[in-house]
Amino acid sequence: MDYLKKYNIRQNLSYCIKATKKAYPKLLLFCLIIIPVNCLLPVISAYLPKVVIEEITENNDLSRLLIITAVFTVTLAVCSGLQKYVGQLIYWNKFKMNAFFLRMVVKKGLTTDYKNQENEHFRKLQNESFSSCNGNFSYYAQIYDAGVQFFSNLLGFLAFLGILVTLSPWIILFIIGTTLIGYFLNKKVNKWVSENTNEKSGYEQNLQYVISVSDDVRAAKDIRLYNMTIWFNHIYEKNLSGLLGWYRKYTAKLFGVSAADGMITLVREGITYLILLKMTLSGSISVAEFVLYFNVIAGFSTWLGSLMGQISVLERLNLSMNRFRSYLEFPEKYLREDGKKVNNHKEPKRIELKNVSFRYSEDGEDVLKNINLSIEPGEHIAVVGLNGAGKTTLIKLLCGLTEPTSGKVLYDGTDVLELNRDHYYKLFGAVFQDYSILPVSIEEIVSEETEGNIDTEKVTESLKQAGLYDRVMSFKNGLKTMYDRSFWDEGVNLSGGEVQKLLLARALYRKSPVVLLDEPTAALDPVSENKLYETYNEVMSGKTTVFISHRLASTRFCSRIILIEDGKIIEEGTHEDLLARKGSYYELFETQAKYYREGKKTGDGDNEDQEASSDEKEGGSI
Ligand code: ADP
Repeated sequence: MDYLKKYNIRQNLSYCIKATKKAYPKLLLFCLIIIPVNCLLPVISAYLPKVVIEEITENNDLSRLLIITAVFTVTLAVCSGLQKYVGQLIYWNKFKMNAFFLRMVVKKGLTTDYKNQENEHFRKLQNESFSSCNGNFSYYAQIYDAGVQFFSNLLGFLAFLGILVTLSPWIILFIIGTTLIGYFLNKKVNKWVSENTNEKSGYEQNLQYVISVSDDVRAAKDIRLYNMTIWFNHIYEKNLSGLLGWYRKYTAKLFGVSAADGMITLVREGITYLILLKMTLSGSISVAEFVLYFNVIAGFSTWLGSLMGQISVLERLNLSMNRFRSYLEFPEKYLREDGKKVNNHKEPKRIELKNVSFRYSEDGEDVLKNINLSIEPGEHIAVVGLNGAGKTTLIKLLCGLTEPTSGKVLYDGTDVLELNRDHYYKLFGAVFQDYSILPVSIEEIVSEETEGNIDTEKVTESLKQAGLYDRVMSFKNGLKTMYDRSFWDEGVNLSGGEVQKLLLARALYRKSPVVLLDEPTAALDPVSENKLYETYNEVMSGKTTVFISHRLASTRFCSRIILIEDGKIIEEGTHEDLLARKGSYYELFETQAKYYREGKKTGDGDNEDQEASSDEKEGGSI
């Protein structure tokens, strides 16, 4: 089903009303108050001159005239005060409601199954939903205005229709017909805008990109060294002139339509006023009635035009609401509270992959092909292979971030799909290549706890094990040092290698029975890397570890090495077994070792450094 047609306007408005009733019921009350007030004001204004003229011409009673005028004007003043006051209340409350919807979007993004975050359709919906309730003029803030306007216009239209019925049905038809022509002309411009929106947002996106890059410190080095300024200027100029061209076309269309609409209004009002004058002169309506109808005719066409306009606005907002609701209702497959508990979070258990195949998209190719692997409790496994072989995907399957396309992942004999996913995640301490670190204190980053709940001894121990403790203690505020400098005046920035150590410390603090490390030493200097290897078995003792590495030298301390090629396990065994087999592992190892041997022969300084860190026969990276 087309997700943009998931719900109709009525269903979406009722969803919105229910949500408002739950979160900020007062907002609904304010909307209900302002609708009749919006309608009442023009009705009273239209009747006031008629009544006054009638009083003067027919009754000639001054005190009665004064009382009637006073009642009318006081009612007008009260209504317009109420309109302003309640309008302000709506203004503030609709932003609260906006924040309520925004919270729903954020919550969904933070808690959704990880695999959804890798789904392109989901990500698109996520972006659209975020922008539909982000900011003061978001779509969600507009829904309240559009709803109020729609019902006010409807009520006003019906009230004025009731007044005009007493005049002539032909005049009503004439006004409706001419107003609709104006409406459809305007609709043509709106259609052009929606058909050409992509062009406009393309220019805006590119301009926004250049603006954001200009103050991005990460891009600043490359921009200067590769002289990208000229290139960026060119992009900026090109897109700015594209955007201005777009607005020129839009203004020309708008001008044409406004002129035509103006002409139609002139003709409509000219003809109807002529008819009114004729009727007054012939005596079929009084002067007082002339004044009333004169006001009502202009108002009637405004009500109708706005009513049609609000229908277009609601149709547009409806698309946005459908995106939002499709996002919130995007299916979640993993079990949470209703899943089986994982009882023991201390002891590692066997993890098995049974005939596991995996592909990222339905029409894509299998990235992992029929993998069978059993990881025993406490085993230290290294996964090696060329780029794109499927190593990271394997790790994501193991820790339950995603699930096999076919086959099963079992933890302690139970299919992971049956487990409470949040419990399952707690079993893993992981370091991924694409990480996220919040701008908080070092001890908060390591412990993932807020102040007061942090076990400082454990933080110290983890930082020591990861080889970062001395560096952290060299900062003025030690464990309480804030990360990073772009956020905090006294904050610190860390190098790539230091960040890796910090991530390792975070994984170690968790004391989880399984540790997954995806290239945790890629950014470490050789001395730090060597230290980590030396302490690896001690630090990881009693835990199951899966360690992805490009550096074959690092695999020696693992009890089993798995070589993945093109999504399949092609060799498995200890370092010595695999070398003796003289297969692909042996070839990769020799390729690396050759580089080191040559490096040693030429006496290259860098390579000497490397040699300090690893066995002279062992290699760099594949
Ligand atoms: P490795 O860790 O061995 O370098 P990966 O497991 O990261 O390999 O990737 C295996 C294959 O899956 C690669 O061809 C990669 O392009 C593809 N891939 C990885 N992540 C995604 C993703 N989120 N969407 C689509 N394809 C992906």
